[in-house]
Amino acid sequence: MEVYEGYDYKTKEPIKIEVENGEIVSVEKSSYNGSCFIAPGLVDLQINGYKGFNFNRKELKESDVIAVTHLIWEQGVTTYFPTIVTNSDENILASLEVIATTCENNRTINKSIGGIHLEGPFLSEEDGPRGAHPLKYIKAPDWKLFCKWQEAAGGRIRIITLTPEWPGSIDFIKRCVRSGVTVSIGHTSANSEQIQEAIDAGASMSTHLGNAAHLLLPRHPNYIWDQLAADDLWSTIIADGFHLPQSVLKVFLKVKPEKCLLVSDATNFAGLEPGSYTSHIGGEVELNEAGRLYIRDNPKLLAGSAQSLLWCVNHLVNSGITSLENALEMASVKPMEALSVTAPNRIEKGKSADLILFERKDKEIKLVQTIKSGRPVFSKEQ
Ligand SMILES: [Zn+2]
Repeated sequence: MEVYEGYDYKTKEPIKIEVENGEIVSVEKSSYNGSCFIAPGLVDLQINGYKGFNFNRKELKESDVIAVTHLIWEQGVTTYFPTIVTNSDENILASLEVIATTCENNRTINKSIGGIHLEGPFLSEEDGPRGAHPLKYIKAPDWKLFCKWQEAAGGRIRIITLTPEWPGSIDFIKRCVRSGVTVSIGHTSANSEQIQEAIDAGASMSTHLGNAAHLLLPRHPNYIWDQLAADDLWSTIIADGFHLPQSVLKVFLKVKPEKCLLVSDATNFAGLEPGSYTSHIGGEVELNEAGRLYIRDNPKLLAGSAQSLLWCVNHLVNSGITSLENALEMASVKPMEALSVTAPNRIEKGKSADLILFERKDKEIKLVQTIKSGRPVFSKEQ
């Protein structure tokens, strides 16, 4: 049996968590008087890579997937959804196969990968909504092709980001939802009716709402208002301090106090030192001291996210928009709730012992330990 103690992130009361075979068997009050808080492990629904590793790289290797898993354990993430973006059919298939094989060969990695997020290629062709997804591979939803990919992934595709503006989208969404895949609207230029039809067909999420959009939109209606107003949609947001201004973050959280989720959308540049790098899609990119990643020749344009989920939690709390407790939930139990009815990672008896222990210093969460299925997978050097 393992025992973990700290202050409950919600109640701030000292608690003792007992764990057996990876599961929480009891949560009780304790006399703990140390400096650590204890919260559910973080869950990242959208992550493309980390510290030089990229799930979308041609010739992705099993060791790359293992390396990313270890690196993000160090950032408090106990469950993540490696994100495969628009690419040639063969390259998508190859990445899915490698992730599936890695899961089959490694028990702990398998538990850490909650599923795969397929972001593309069924996205908008329009500049702006399309973002950096290569136009030549963008296409209409194709169920047969999706089934081939799902088979290669060993059934692990749990989230698909698509736009409902294509003919045939609604039937495709229904099939996805019926097969247990969460459909998230993103990289879209769909109109109000198409968005409503997608929701009626079972779409239940918005991908990085407010990003991957036209630079100029009609004041109303537009696809941001439509998605914000839809009570059935969870919104994932990139709260790294660069992708959305404070006012937008504040409004999103006010409109959807219970249904906002944090994602990192981290690229392979996340976790690297500031400097100049070459991106396979964006050409030359720059990561500055503040942590902003942009196109060198056009500094106004972001080149993706270079920050971890933990950074986003810190940013949201320090911006004063929400409490630490809520920011943590937006990045841990709520993402799991969005995918299923119950969060399997709440700090409760019978749930998986996926935990983080942390201290609060200089307005930052300083990670002390990450626990996956009851076992420490990261411990801060003493
Ligand atoms: Zn995207």
